Amino acid sequence: MSAQPAGLDPALLEILACPAPDHGELRPDADASTLTCAACGRTYPVTDGIPVLLLSEATGGPSAPGPDAGSGETAGG
Ligand SMILES: [Zn+2]
Repeated sequence: MSAQPAGLDPALLEILACPAPDHGELRPDADASTLTCAACGRTYPVTDGIPVLLLSEATGGPSAPGPDAGSGETAGG
């Protein structure tokens, strides 16, 4: 009967924004356990209903530390 996620207030989501320079819109997942930025794609955890909007806590995103950073750059000389 409750369509809105428990824990996160809709009004709170309106004032929240991605801490990254893009300041994108944050969208909660089905369980409202994480918030995903619509601009950069970073995912932020939600602890006890409190969004942890820290770049250090975010997962994913454009500059995610990957084991193999693909770089198609060739050094010409
Ligand atoms: Zn973002």
